[in-house]
Amino acid sequence: MENVDDNYFKNYQNLLERLYKKVPAPASSGERFEPPKLIAHQMGNQTVIRNFREVADKLRREPELLARYFLKGLATSGNYDRESGTLLLNSKLNVETLNNILNKFIESYVICPTCGRPDTVIIKKGKIWILKCEACGAEGPVKPF
Ligand SMILES: [Zn+2]
Repeated sequence: MENVDDNYFKNYQNLLERLYKKVPAPASSGERFEPPKLIAHQMGNQTVIRNFREVADKLRREPELLARYFLKGLATSGNYDRESGTLLLNSKLNVETLNNILNKFIESYVICPTCGRPDTVIIKKGKIWILKCEACGAEGPVKPF
């Protein structure tokens, strides 16, 4: 009976292996997409996002488009400065709020709902916007803003 523990261990290992194989692979297998993070600071009653252009570039979106989404989502006014690549917002906002808006944008307008990859473009056909994935070829309408 000295092998009882051994067998128990082997069975347990087998069980784990079987369970593990049943877990479906994540939609975006391979390298995981790390959403970029905004760097912002408050200046009186205003907030400046310092790396706004950098983040937009990383997502392959026009900074002007991303700026419009932010102003709408945050219900505030502001100004994107081409020269410095910063977004000035006329509200006091903390960086978590800003990153939440950014993540919403990424979910709706960057990540392909079919394969989970961020390699997408937005094609505008008048009032119809299509999110097209360059990784898997899927395309679907997204809400214009
Ligand atoms: Zn895709």
